[in-house]
Amino acid sequence: MVASGHRRTFRNCSSFRRKRHSLSLNSNAPVAVTLRAHPRAVEGDRSEVSQASMPTAGPLVDRYGRVHDDLRVSVTDRCNLRCVYCMPEVGMTFLPHDALLSFDEITRVATVAASLGVTSLRLTGGEPLVRKDLVSLVARLSDIGFNDLSLTTNGMLLAPLARRLADAGLTRVNISCDSLRADRFDSIRRRGDLGTVLASMDAAEAAGLVPLKVNVVILRGVNDDEILDFAAFARETGRVVRFIEFMPLDAQGQWDKSRLVAGREIFELVSALWPLEATEPGGSAPAQRFRFADAGGEIGLISSVTQPFCGSCNRLRLTSDGALRNCLFSDDELSLRDSIRDGADDAQIAEMLRRAVWEKFPGHAINEPDFLRPARSMSMIGG
Ligand code: SAM
Repeated sequence: MVASGHRRTFRNCSSFRRKRHSLSLNSNAPVAVTLRAHPRAVEGDRSEVSQASMPTAGPLVDRYGRVHDDLRVSVTDRCNLRCVYCMPEVGMTFLPHDALLSFDEITRVATVAASLGVTSLRLTGGEPLVRKDLVSLVARLSDIGFNDLSLTTNGMLLAPLARRLADAGLTRVNISCDSLRADRFDSIRRRGDLGTVLASMDAAEAAGLVPLKVNVVILRGVNDDEILDFAAFARETGRVVRFIEFMPLDAQGQWDKSRLVAGREIFELVSALWPLEATEPGGSAPAQRFRFADAGGEIGLISSVTQPFCGSCNRLRLTSDGALRNCLFSDDELSLRDSIRDGADDAQIAEMLRRAVWEKFPGHAINEPDFLRPARSMSMIGG
């Protein structure tokens, strides 16, 4: 049993909640968390907390029967952009390089995770492509043999690397892009430029990194007049445009529910013009996906705030400094890095992965009045 890396803080869990923010909830959107078993969950009643002790074999499963087969790995907390919903323009401090997991350490954790049934791994950050020589990490992770090995990027550095990443074994990319208007892109992202990001989408597709998903955070009064433009973009390009609700994970702490645009509102706006059909339900993808009834292309709604999908969550996160997190919104962390550097063997790493999953809470509790923002923001955790 490895104890050195254990850092639990008990926030946003039912019995240890402290009030820090008072959120005004003016939406009538459903907020209850419905536990829905992952297709690979063990048989039995999953609506109750399991009284059993943590399993020592089989897949990574939590007390609610949710099987975890998806690992998000942040390789850096640094970013070359300063998106308004993510980071302040100045004043961010970043981890020193020696605090980050090395590629050897990431590969080791990924190998153990794969042995426990993790089949999907996504690299993220900060901006993952600012980490030097990421292609070599992709090659090493590819050798482990994940079904899905993907990358989320802002697209600024992708175009010249897309082919090499694909050759190294990357299967697909998600590219963030919050406006299709150059001047607005500049004001939302503060650095970078739209032309480079659009070119990176073309390069990714040319390299076979498909299906290409385009992540858009819609902010009320900022880019909500582009929802139909993005839907048209999905129809014209065949790309999957995913509308993400603004989450209380900005480093500035300025999140306010009035600034998010609910997925349901986006659905109503788009479907009034172009009828939408739900794609096959199932799996654990956070997006509710819809295709256009009369054209190609697809949209996804990631309604993390107004329609939480915690009940089918299958995700586990590894921060760039090696902390295991079982939820974006829970501050409970287990430092795999400290344990590895203290000499933990693979069995001990496996035990920590199991524990991180086992101790997951049923839901993120954003919509509860005593919700606490997590201490780390999205870029520090890995989005
Ligand atoms: N740098 C990469 C990128 O831009 O895609 C990967 C990291 S970024 C943190 C991952 C995703 O999180 C992006 O799609 C970004 O738009 C989204 N994101 C960041 N802050 C967010 C917030 N407060 N609410 C919702 N989404 C956010």
